[in-house]
Amino acid sequence: MEGRSINFGAGPSALPEDVLQEAAKGLLNFEGTGIGIAEISHRSKEFGACLSKLESHIRTLLDVPQTHSILFTQGGGSAQFSAIVLNLLARHRLLHPELKDEERVMDYVITGSWSQKAAAEARRLGGGKVNVVVDSREFSTKDKKSFDNIPPHGDNNNAYKFSPDPALIFYCENETVDGVQFAHDQASPASFPFHRLPQSALLPLVGDHSSSFMSRSIPHLADHAVIYAGAQKNIGPAGLTIIIVRQDCIVDVDAAAKLGASPVPITMSYKTLADHGSLYNTPSTLAIYVAGLVLQRMKNMGGLEYYENVNRAKQAKLYNAIEESEGILRRKVREDAGSWMNVVFDVAGDGADTRFIAGADKLGMKAMKGHRSAGGIRVSLYNAISEKETDQLIEYIKEFVRQEK
Ligand code: PMP
Repeated sequence: MEGRSINFGAGPSALPEDVLQEAAKGLLNFEGTGIGIAEISHRSKEFGACLSKLESHIRTLLDVPQTHSILFTQGGGSAQFSAIVLNLLARHRLLHPELKDEERVMDYVITGSWSQKAAAEARRLGGGKVNVVVDSREFSTKDKKSFDNIPPHGDNNNAYKFSPDPALIFYCENETVDGVQFAHDQASPASFPFHRLPQSALLPLVGDHSSSFMSRSIPHLADHAVIYAGAQKNIGPAGLTIIIVRQDCIVDVDAAAKLGASPVPITMSYKTLADHGSLYNTPSTLAIYVAGLVLQRMKNMGGLEYYENVNRAKQAKLYNAIEESEGILRRKVREDAGSWMNVVFDVAGDGADTRFIAGADKLGMKAMKGHRSAGGIRVSLYNAISEKETDQLIEYIKEFVRQEK
């Protein structure tokens, strides 16, 4: 559409234009009800159908097994930093009422600023002890201070120290700020070390998939206790959080509180969400509607496999362009740990970042400034960014490099 830019922002981020056009109609008149989607009751049968459709799209696209429920809530990834601790400590309390708080261990894999924030919240809430399984900064070859890698887990250099029976094991699949991601190829040394986890059928494994959800398949999905994601990267507007939770992790938090666990705010309890079909309180109706349209479109285009292939191609082209810039652009993270979704790099020379951004802006390519804590450039290649738009950016990069030389 005339006047629209290519939005490489990290979130909220680009959505497919045809979905936005469809959603604009729904804003005025949802499903022929004569009432717009932002106005209609969340208890109406039309909205109920919309919510069920979203759930069924997620189940089919990701192949979520019947052992897991799909819940919807608000509060984003940040609220889940708290919710996972509260719900899984309650579960641990019910399983092991005899343990003292300091004997309840929460394992955190730290690979970037989001996992660091998640661990900080677990420490703040208390009720258990945080064990840092690994901190990837120690493996930075640059300066021992940077989140620029995924630590090794080979037989001779295993960096991951999991606890034997933790209340939860946390990892962040894609670090949106730092641009590192676990490799999708399970044979890669930068993949998540599933084989290093304690041997247990009902592992309390929690994955923050906020910024990679629906961009590619989730390895070992069925082995997770909880997978969560905010919608505002690949699938919709902000305000909707998706939680995929194994049913043994939906526990009676009030019974656990009677045994000494922290009380859980009612809207944060997975049991509340599950018992009320995610309609205990008013959900983000508009975001649910738009996410449903995005996933319907995704299905029509060929599902997760299609997007996985396109996303693989997009990031490979961009990393190649950085590689071929002869030092003018410098990637910030190690080769095997580069995110498919958030590609981060610096531009060599004084004020060069600003020049890069201003030049792109003139061509209608926007929102590539790195996170305020990281600086440099961050290009987010979420699902709604097409291969053609990625090619446009690469053309610009080539021209920029020619001029800088
Ligand atoms: N985890 C990750 C990986 C994120 O990228 C973000 C947000 N960008 C969050 C958690 C926090 O999400 P929210 O802002 O929706 O609370």
